[in-house]
Amino acid sequence: MENLKNYCPECNEQLRGRTDKKFCSDSCRSVYHNRQKSEQSIVLKMIDKRLKRNRKILMGLYDALHNDTKLVPLKYVENLGFAFNFYTHIETDSHEEMVFCYEYGYRKVDKQKVELVKQIPFSEGVDIIA
Ligand SMILES: [Zn+2]
Repeated sequence: MENLKNYCPECNEQLRGRTDKKFCSDSCRSVYHNRQKSEQSIVLKMIDKRLKRNRKILMGLYDALHNDTKLVPLKYVENLGFAFNFYTHIETDSHEEMVFCYEYGYRKVDKQKVELVKQIPFSEGVDIIA
């Protein structure tokens, strides 16, 4: 049976020698891994940026509202560039879903309005705020 030929994923050179070899050389190995790492970090940065911008929008609105009810027209949040498909977690409280970007979140009151909420997650049983 003929051996399956393996190729270096970096330079496409046919691999010789040990059958478990993955790269033709140490330099190809490090170039390949460094590129993979930087591609991953670009993806993480893009998502982090989105989440942090969302948090900033919610925080700004939350702090700007001095009344007890933190109601905001949905359109207003949209117009600020809020990306609704980016969030960190969802909490459900008596059938109501609250969507969070870090500690700031919102729940839909009706089709036109959202209520902003602020909550420090992971604080149950641990007094980290006081
Ligand atoms: Zn190579």
